[in-house]
Amino acid sequence: LDGVTKVYDEQPPVPALRGVSFCVRPGALVAIVGPSGSGKSTLLHVMGTLERPSSGVVRIAGVDAARLSDRELSLLRAREIGFVFQQFFLAEHATVRENVADGLLYAGVPAAERYRRADEALERVGLAERASFKPTRISGGERQRVAIARAVVGRPAIVLADEPTGNLDSTTGASIMELIRELNAAGATIVMITHDAGLADRLPRQVRMLDGRVISDCG
Ligand code: ATP
Ligand code: MG
Repeated sequence: LDGVTKVYDEQPPVPALRGVSFCVRPGALVAIVGPSGSGKSTLLHVMGTLERPSSGVVRIAGVDAARLSDRELSLLRAREIGFVFQQFFLAEHATVRENVADGLLYAGVPAAERYRRADEALERVGLAERASFKPTRISGGERQRVAIARAVVGRPAIVLADEPTGNLDSTTGASIMELIRELNAAGATIVMITHDAGLADRLPRQVRMLDGRVISDCG
């Protein structure tokens, strides 16, 4: 990111990012920390091309995202990026397995293979026995793990995770962190938001935000 700003088009306008520049190398594991409203989720959405910046440049694997069409961006996201959203965004009418398999929908994977890989991902987050449930019938922490399984089912090169351990007890949080470290060890680049200071301290790099700016970058 090079001098990225993001102003949400509200009345009055909301400046969420006020000039953010930093670089994440392939294979990195980075924690983003900072108080509520400091722009962490906005930063993650801009990095993942879900939101276009108001100004500045977002470059992914050397390519200026502004030069790509919406269609090219959605293909890039489908192939390369896994998102864990702060609000999960699970489809309530679909089963847990279908929610996870949907992570492969735009990557052109045939249905049978999608379900096989969904079951594998659910196994990894410890939810194999919930595969046929609807998201409304499982706990909050389980929903979070479904969101994580959906993000990683396509084995993306980049995982952007917004509070992936936020609503979990410490044991489940630790097992999710273990999964994230495994993905990273297997080569994935990971940027995760966390408000768990102890967790962030144990990661190789910590970027701290305040009021739409990066105020420290340590690691
Ligand atoms: P939290 O820790 O509470 O999740 P955050 O650091 O992720 O906070 P953001 O969600 O990035 O913060 O929000 C940064 C600022 O932008 C806030 O003032 C917020 O109200 C505003 N904002 C976020 N999303 C939108 C949106 N879609 N439209 C308008 N304003 C928004
Ligand atoms: Mg947020």
